[in-house]
This record gives sequence, structure tokens and C-alpha cells, in this order.
Amino acid sequence: MRVGFLSHADCGRHDTGWEHPEHVGRLRAVTRALRNKPELWETVDHLEGRHAAPDELSLAHTPGYIAMVQQRSAAGGGRLDADTVLSEGSWDAATAGAGCVLDAVDRAASGVNLRSFCAVRPPGHHALSDRAMGFCLFGNVAIAAHYARARHSFGRILIVDWDVHHGNGTQALVEHEPDIHFVSMHQWPWYPGTGAASDRGPHDSVWNIPMPAGRKPEDYMEALERGIDAATDGFVPDLVLISAGFDSMYGDRLGGFTLQLEHFEQLTTSMVARAESWCGGRLVSSLEGGYVPDRLGEACITHLAALA
Ligand SMILES: [Zn+2]
Repeated sequence: MRVGFLSHADCGRHDTGWEHPEHVGRLRAVTRALRNKPELWETVDHLEGRHAAPDELSLAHTPGYIAMVQQRSAAGGGRLDADTVLSEGSWDAATAGAGCVLDAVDRAASGVNLRSFCAVRPPGHHALSDRAMGFCLFGNVAIAAHYARARHSFGRILIVDWDVHHGNGTQALVEHEPDIHFVSMHQWPWYPGTGAASDRGPHDSVWNIPMPAGRKPEDYMEALERGIDAATDGFVPDLVLISAGFDSMYGDRLGGFTLQLEHFEQLTTSMVARAESWCGGRLVSSLEGGYVPDRLGEACITHLAALA
């Protein structure tokens, strides 16, 4: 079984400017790091994903919001919230980002690539149904979860989010569906301020794990594994989705967690083993945060190698 490495040239067309932490250099660093590992480069399938169609985005977003993003992009872009900007290429980038994840779900369903990593931007886990937020335009992983249920026979979905920030958008977009279980570990108190442990969603299908900054890595690892155990107690997922944010790594400019490369390797290996025991190994991972480009590249490559 070969692992899919999905990306899209259009993801580079979301132009936020070099001063913005979520700039195009992040993805370039991932490709660069992969090129420096020829044995891994040879092992994975390099794939350009497709663009998500508006009716696919509407699995999680309102038609009015989708049309607004398209129109504002076409008109040259602008600022959507305090830290989320739109450029002329942002519509193509955001639909390519979401489309890569949908493509990866199709590949997991057909068995062509049971596991994939999607190196995409903009990230998605803060985006709300009718509003951009926190560098995110469309909820790539949330859309993929609804898509997997609607287009494939995957009834139960597990989403694990290890980005240092709470996946508030993902939670908002999936919490009404009791068969999508969502686990998010995040720094607390921290942006965006949501994600208290007591917030379990209307169906108790959300496991929020708020953690202080600066703890030893083992504390984060243990807390997340415990959360995943709880979310899958009596619930066997048909597909595993990972919101792979690497801003939970030591030294990130936007977070205070202390995870190192070895911990992402360990987490990935654990998720692969779990997916194998639950659902034939079907797992789709999508890039969220991670704001020190060279470190991000290394982390993505470590993650990808552990998937492979
Ligand atoms: Zn983040």
C-alpha cells in the first residue's frame, strides 16, 4: 500500500503577504523537506488533488458565504477578519485545499491510497459556516467528514485535531452530527478562546482537551491518547481524519506546546494502528497550522514517513 501525498499548485496562490504567518513559504518548505528525503519521495504517490465544487463546500458552509468568498476573490480580495485575508487566487487555493482532502477520502474509499497526507493551505479548522476566521476560509476536514458520510458508506467518522489552537470551526460544523466524533487538544487559555473541557456539543460527541503551555511532551501525548480512547469507547469509526496542525511543536511562533518530531511520529504511528484495527487503515490527514516553515517541513515529512 502506497501513501498519497496530495497537494495542489493553486494552494500557493492564496497570497497573504510575507509578513503574515500563514504565507506560501510554508508549503514550499514541506516540498523542500520531502525532496531532501529521496527514499521517502520514492515511496509515496505524488498527487495533485481536485478543486472542491460549491455544492461540496455547502456540505458545511452557507451558499451566501461561498458566493461571497468567490466574488471577493474575483474582485481582487481584501480582509475578511482581523487576521484572515483574501487575494485574487484565494478562491482557487481554498477550493483546491478542500478538494485535495475530498480526493483523499475518495482514494481511501476505493483503496487506491488507504492513507494520505494533504499538504494544503489555507488551513480550515477555524472556518465557520458563514464566516472566515483565523487564517481559514473553508473547513477542509469538516467538509470531508460530511462528504465521506454523504458520498461513501462511511457512517461513523473520527476527527482528531492536534493543532495548538482549538478547532472551533470544525466543532461548529460537525457537532450537530452525533456520528462524527471530534477530539481537539489545544492550548488554554489561547486563541480562539473556545474549547473548554465541559463543552461536549449538543450530542456529547465532542472531546475538548484544553492544556496549559509549557508542559512536558508526555503530558500532551497522554492527554490526547486518553481523549481518543474516550471518543472511540463503543464507537468504531469507518474513517479517521486528522487535523494535523504542527504549531503544537516546540518553538512555534503561535503556540507554547513542547512536542518534538519524535512525538508526531509516535502519534501518527498510534493513529495508523488504531485506524488499522477499526477500519482497514483508512486515514486522511490534512495540514492545519505550523508557523516556522523549516520546522513545519520536517514535521510534515516525519508525519508522512510514519503514515507510509
Ligand atoms: Zn493553529
